[in-house]
Amino acid sequence: MIAILKAGAPQAQIDNLIRWLERQGLKIHISQGDYYTVLGLVGDTSKVDMELLSSLDIVQSVKRVSDPFKRCSRDFQPQDTVIEVGDSGVKIGGGNFCLIAGPCSVETHEQILEVARAVKAAGANILRGGAFKPRTSPYDFQGLGKLGIEMLSEAKKETGLPIITEVMNINQLELFDDVDIIQIGARNMQNFDLLKEVGKLNKPILLKRGLCGTMKEWLMSAEYIMSEGNERVILCERGIRTYETYTRNTLDLSAVPTLKNLTHLPIVVDPSHATGQARLVKPMALAAAAAGADGLMIEVHNDPPHAWCDGAQSLTPVQFADVAQRVQKVLEAVR
Ligand code: PEP
Ligand code: MN
Repeated sequence: MIAILKAGAPQAQIDNLIRWLERQGLKIHISQGDYYTVLGLVGDTSKVDMELLSSLDIVQSVKRVSDPFKRCSRDFQPQDTVIEVGDSGVKIGGGNFCLIAGPCSVETHEQILEVARAVKAAGANILRGGAFKPRTSPYDFQGLGKLGIEMLSEAKKETGLPIITEVMNINQLELFDDVDIIQIGARNMQNFDLLKEVGKLNKPILLKRGLCGTMKEWLMSAEYIMSEGNERVILCERGIRTYETYTRNTLDLSAVPTLKNLTHLPIVVDPSHATGQARLVKPMALAAAAAGADGLMIEVHNDPPHAWCDGAQSLTPVQFADVAQRVQKVLEAVR
């Protein structure tokens, strides 16, 4: 249930109303817009007297929200969430477009530094790199782990780019102090214990869509994180599994405008994992920008044929620079 308060409602009366609702066992989510304050009521609202609530002086309207997700719902917070990344000054959402780039996996000091410098020069504002890799085969490279995070940190120190990397289980979180955005990979979209744990942190979380995740399930996973107190969630569309085999996954770009309607959270698109082929990354990156995405996550490697992981979908720094430039043109055109 949401209660939209009248413009200029006195704070003392708002506080009274919140206390009254809390006494009924509800949690109150407050969204302060430019003109209105919206109170989101979470919990068993079946006993709330809607007529009484509507009749209060400071209340403009009351509405039941039928969606199972609450905190991430646009009804609860009409304005876009803007996420600040560490103390880098980088923002995501609400018109702030982010360009996340870097290799699938951190491999060596030289590799991550070279890629970091190149993507920064091309306009990327966040560096990605996997240290813990969720691989389909246990015999494939599993990531450098702790050492990989240390190498990412060095690249951050040298370039000033904030860093994002994936966590696969709760025990690894102690290594993530210097990481600016924690990625929850597609395979962990419904690892509810992990979601609850990152929900207790004070860091942005990039939540990838599961291979078979519906938009509703994906939003419920975001809700898991937010219900623990961490409201800084970025959604990432990375393709879903369909019957098609020419592409690695099927990029569901309709998710971008659909989710824009349903949620205030930023939505980033990963055309690399979605397509699995370097030559498809550029057209889909441009399409994602045109569709209203709040950013892109693109795999870039200094030597794709010799990458330890996902070389076929990795762009060279030169190809990435071209994509970055054209994306800016698309953004200007659709703005
Ligand atoms: C990744 O971004 O490195 C990754 C493993 O992606 P996904 O979880 O989307 O497969
Ligand atoms: Mn990859």
